[in-house]
Amino acid sequence: MPTPSIDELTAGVLAGNRAMLGRAITLVESRNPERQAAAQDLLHRLLPHAGNAHRVGITGVPGVGKSTFIESLGTQLTAAGNKVAVLAVDPTSSRSGGSILGDKTRMAALASDPNAFIRPSPSSGTLGGVARATRETIIVLEAAGYRVVLVETVGVGQSETTVAEMVDFFLVLMLPGAGDELQGIKKGILEIADMVAVNKADGDNRARAMTAVREYKTALHILTPASPNWSPPVVACAGLTGEGLGDLWSKIVEHRRIFTETGERAQKRRTQQVRWMWAMVEDRLMTSLRASPAVRAALPELEAQVAGETLTPASAVERMLELWRAKGA
Ligand code: GDP
Repeated sequence: MPTPSIDELTAGVLAGNRAMLGRAITLVESRNPERQAAAQDLLHRLLPHAGNAHRVGITGVPGVGKSTFIESLGTQLTAAGNKVAVLAVDPTSSRSGGSILGDKTRMAALASDPNAFIRPSPSSGTLGGVARATRETIIVLEAAGYRVVLVETVGVGQSETTVAEMVDFFLVLMLPGAGDELQGIKKGILEIADMVAVNKADGDNRARAMTAVREYKTALHILTPASPNWSPPVVACAGLTGEGLGDLWSKIVEHRRIFTETGERAQKRRTQQVRWMWAMVEDRLMTSLRASPAVRAALPELEAQVAGETLTPASAVERMLELWRAKGA
């Protein structure tokens, strides 16, 4: 098939054509400057049709049951008439040569569901690059009529915070009794959670899960909620059996209702956009700095001098910026 024009891609995405959707996302993921310019043109045209989805981030350690959970929740949501998209943010995928998230074989039923669309993590190297592509992919999916966008991530580096910054609602999955209370949990994760779900709360795990629910409630209780209108709930569920998923989803819908009424949803998205712009500025400036031939040539010597304490770090920075402004910008 010849490369579709931006007009064709726009029309295809708006019509919900899956092949065109796939190609549009590939364009958005591209790091080639010319293709990036075309992608920005496409996004500009799609933006008026975007913004309508529940953007929900989901995190949890490998093995917590994310793919089983998403498969189960996603299937319930498509059965109720929603178009559901699943994205993954996995900054390790380019290093390991394969994504541990978003692999279609992990969610076989959803992958063959005509109302679901699964896209593995783009393997563009840096978390910043993956995040850019994912954010822009959300726009494309919304324009194509997806009303629920689930963004899955594992707790690698900053990926959880990065995902929390691109969604309306951030869900943290926990294992029952995975640590007497909070052991093994990354610091700060509860602070960005809009809800904690203790997963695998079925069968023999049920009692342990309820203990964990109480422990997380206590832990969350001592934190000041990010919004006066929402205290992050702690629930028990089981992706495998579907138990608790209806209740869990109704809380997400309730959150959306409240945050829409108070204006916090729109405000949060505005804040996210502006922060994102600054993150991209930092990213671009760093890339430009590192790519500057003059800076590259001087770096080994500057680093050696700073390490040897013959030059202060501040002076090295001045020198580097001078070189960058003079030749490399
Ligand atoms: P992920 O690595 O977080 O995506 O986890 P998976 O969804 O691949 O699940 C890891 C393992 O836990 C698999 O063997 C699943 O069958 C099992 N599992 C997932 N969800 C549940 C659940 O709700 N209950 C029980 N008992 N096992 C589950």
